[in-house]
Amino acid sequence: MPPAPHWTSSVTVSRLRATAAGDLQELIATADWSELRGRRIVIRIEPRAGYVAQVGPRVLRGWMIRMHFGLLAATNYLLLLLFDEAATPAKRAAQLRAYMAAVVRGELPPRYPDFPATKVTEIEVLGRFCKWFILAHELGHIVSAARGDRFTCPFEEEFAADKWGWLLYYGRAQMMLPPFDELHSAGEMPTSWDRQRWIEQNGDRFAQLVNEMSSERRAFATAMNHCIWAAPHLVFRSLEYLERAFREAGVMLARTHPPAADRRPGLLAHVPAALTDQVLLKTLRPLDEAIPAPA
Ligand SMILES: [Zn+2]
Repeated sequence: MPPAPHWTSSVTVSRLRATAAGDLQELIATADWSELRGRRIVIRIEPRAGYVAQVGPRVLRGWMIRMHFGLLAATNYLLLLLFDEAATPAKRAAQLRAYMAAVVRGELPPRYPDFPATKVTEIEVLGRFCKWFILAHELGHIVSAARGDRFTCPFEEEFAADKWGWLLYYGRAQMMLPPFDELHSAGEMPTSWDRQRWIEQNGDRFAQLVNEMSSERRAFATAMNHCIWAAPHLVFRSLEYLERAFREAGVMLARTHPPAADRRPGLLAHVPAALTDQVLLKTLRPLDEAIPAPA
């Protein structure tokens, strides 16, 4: 029996549940998909060390998303490790291996000790995006089921949830990015994720807005775009370390999920090729250097 951790008090969990419920509502409202409209979706955050987020069981005329506290704690740990400038890539890899080994043993690992206080804004934004992406994937399962998607194997089901989840997540996160933020608050931006179509139809106006952006807003847009792509990458990277820890412990993984390393490239398939190159060069490669894939 692992010792009961003090930080999973019911107060903390219920607060987390409230913010997670708010995040869910925002994702659903932003997407405005008929598949999600009017559905009863309940979220349950469980005070457990595990690394679980899943849909089920079905609740009356709706769905339940279950999430272990351990998943949020691990995401937090990963972000603090990433922003700890004193840590080398090798140290980060070793720390993550140790962390995930503890998770596999059913223990709640300690919090990351070095809090890089100067990076608090980046950590908060990235942390929020990571959580959105995890929740959006679960909502993706619900969208997929509501649409009647059919699969021949469980891996396809996960790839479909990744796809729908990515569209939900990307749509919501983009609303925070100039000039979309302005258009969105003026009620001019469609709530659907398909902003590309709006840009094509309103090319001149969009170009004008981009041109008029101050250098500060431009820099902010670049930083936000970086975070939008970094978050899913980080979620998958921590999963890679978890998968490795399970293998090392000789535990057979359920064959329901494709390896995390195979899921990441799927996200890049949903954006134009020119953007893919940018994302690889500016965001994903530097992240791979900071936190290398498990050997
Ligand atoms: Zn899934």
